[in-house]
Amino acid sequence: MDYVVFDLEWNQCPDGRQNSNQRLPFEIIEIGAVRMNEQLQVTDSFHRLIRPQVYKWIHNSIHDVTHMDIKDLQEGVIFPAAARDFISWCGKEYRFCTWGDQDVMELQRNMKYYGILRLIPPPVVYLDVQKLFAYCYDNPENRRSLEYATDFLKIEKQEDFHRALNDAHFTARVLSHIETRYTHQYPSLDTFQHPLDKTDEYHISFPACTKYVSREFSSKEKAMKDREVSSTRCPYCRKNARRTLRWFTPNGKVYYSVSNCPEHGDIAGSIRFRKGEGETVFAEKTLGNATEKDLDIIRSKRDQKRMNKEK
Ligand SMILES: [Zn+2]
Repeated sequence: MDYVVFDLEWNQCPDGRQNSNQRLPFEIIEIGAVRMNEQLQVTDSFHRLIRPQVYKWIHNSIHDVTHMDIKDLQEGVIFPAAARDFISWCGKEYRFCTWGDQDVMELQRNMKYYGILRLIPPPVVYLDVQKLFAYCYDNPENRRSLEYATDFLKIEKQEDFHRALNDAHFTARVLSHIETRYTHQYPSLDTFQHPLDKTDEYHISFPACTKYVSREFSSKEKAMKDREVSSTRCPYCRKNARRTLRWFTPNGKVYYSVSNCPEHGDIAGSIRFRKGEGETVFAEKTLGNATEKDLDIIRSKRDQKRMNKEK
């Protein structure tokens, strides 16, 4: 499988958010990508400038960051052509890699706007290099800038940041510094396209964790009562693992648990709730082999919750 490290630049409504197109608040104006083989060597690159169809003037804040002008973009192609070229360039078997969790979603939102989202069939698994950098070199909850990571790893900076192809190259270089066990243990799953029926629910296995995405429920409490949502199966042998710390939530957003498989040890569980259509929610559950660091984080969240209750 190839790794496709990509970066997008996008524009927004130049006359303020209130005049923005609800279906396309951010219009992609540049795609840059590099493809890497399994040994994380760069084998090819891709670049397209995109001629905007929705917002015909570059928002000042976007111009300040990217230094791109509307004139530069007139030489570009329209988005559907660029996206089709990009997806066919990705090849048959690939995994997206991006800095942060926004680009994978934005690419799909733009493709949905033009009716070509079927070119990216769900579930969309990707590597969030910003998150992996935090796990590998920093506090897991920190989110640093690409420039910070580049400086930290003493990566040479010949090009400027905030242009799609340069940022894709920098992200690829950061990725090549991440130990494999982190890419195995902490893959990301994008849920812009999420299951609507029980039969469409996602069950995905990775080398050191499993991910599950539920159908929609009317509330978190209803979802937590569902047996599949609250189950804690061992990611290695699939047997039911006994919960040693029951599901709890410190903030109402994410639920945590610890369970134990007699054969494979401690398993860290997390359930993150996301907004579905209308008033519904759906659950994204991760069950993974728990390191001491993971267990410490979960226990400190539980202690924090207890302290808050006692106050
Ligand atoms: Zn097991």
